[in-house]
Formats: sequence, C-alpha cells, structure tokens
Amino acid sequence: MHDWKADERKLRGDFEKRMADMLPEPLFESFNFTGGHICLLCTKPPVSMLYSTTMTPLIPLCQGCAVNWRSYDYYALKRLNPVKILKWKLFHPFRSPGWLAIVRQLRAVKKWSEKMKRLMKRGKK
Ligand SMILES: [Zn+2]
Repeated sequence: MHDWKADERKLRGDFEKRMADMLPEPLFESFNFTGGHICLLCTKPPVSMLYSTTMTPLIPLCQGCAVNWRSYDYYALKRLNPVKILKWKLFHPFRSPGWLAIVRQLRAVKKWSEKMKRLMKRGKK
C-alpha cells in the first residue's frame, strides 16, 4: 500500500524549508540570555543579545555597541570582524566563551547574513 502520510510529511517539510528560506529574519534585542559570551563587535562583556526570529542567539552586544545598534540598526553590524574575535581568543585562551562556541556563533552569524544578503538582492530586482 502506498504510504501517503509519508509523502505528505515530506511535502510539508519541503514547503516549510522553502518558506523559511524565503522569509527574512530581522534581529531583535533581548536582555535575557545566559552568560559565557563576549560582544561580537568589540569583545567586551555583553549586556544584551541580538536574536533572529528563529530564536537563534546571534550577536551579543556590550553597552556601547547596543547603543550603536539602536541608532544605526544593521549598519552597526558592519563593524563585526571575525579576525578580531579570534585574536581576542588567542590572547585570552582560558576565558569563556571557548573556541568551539565562538566558531559556532560566527558560523550562525555568517549563515544569517548570507541569507539576508540573498533576500535583499532578490528584493532589488
Ligand atoms: Zn561592544
């Protein structure tokens, strides 16, 4: 017998994935997050976190950078420099976050920004 339920499940999964690929993920700021982060823009201890709409914690911000985020919005994120973060880790090997956490976070930010760039390009056509 044909398993139409499996077909439907697969179809629904594909549809949800395609929808997720097409929808932009604006960031929102939250002050409620667990510790073990550094500001991704200047490596100071963070006071807030930028989340994507999928509830992924993306960019921890210190007080100064959070103010910039509020006034310059996404332009404030142009200062994000992965090399600076990795250099900080090189000089603070025993401080939290660890290498793995940093790489994971930078990867999540990269994935998010590539998606947003792709959607913005498509929007301009
Ligand atoms: Zn900062």
